[in-house]
Amino acid sequence: MTYDKNNIFAKILRGEIPCKKIYENDYVLSFYDIKPKKKIHALIIPKGEYIDFDDFTSKASTNEINELFKGINVVAQRLKITNNLGNGYRILTNIGKDGGQEVPHFHFHIFAGEIIGKMVV
Ligand code: AMP
Repeated sequence: MTYDKNNIFAKILRGEIPCKKIYENDYVLSFYDIKPKKKIHALIIPKGEYIDFDDFTSKASTNEINELFKGINVVAQRLKITNNLGNGYRILTNIGKDGGQEVPHFHFHIFAGEIIGKMVV
């Protein structure tokens, strides 16, 4: 499977489509999901061209991986949803057809702002 440069998140990264930005650095971009499924529903994506978790984990540099995980923490602090600043949150990533992935650019969902509920429904 090759990376589709025309996926919606690639377009957001190129500035061709707007997003409600939460945080950005040289490695990651975080923005609000366009169809929030919880009171707070953010996304965080690497800037590199990675299709999913496995593509990212097998090909990304240690620095890119580090920056993505650090980025989640920065976003959680900005949104005040860490266990210290708020009531916690859930991170989730869908992989492929069975995982329910719609956008083929690796991303974590960040859900918060209310009780998220069961792990899988
Ligand atoms: P997934 O099913 O894990 O691939 O999730 C893709 C997510 O991207 C969904 O929750 C969509 O609502 C969200 N999404 C699609 N287009 C946009 C967009 N233009 N801006 C923000 N979020 C989007």
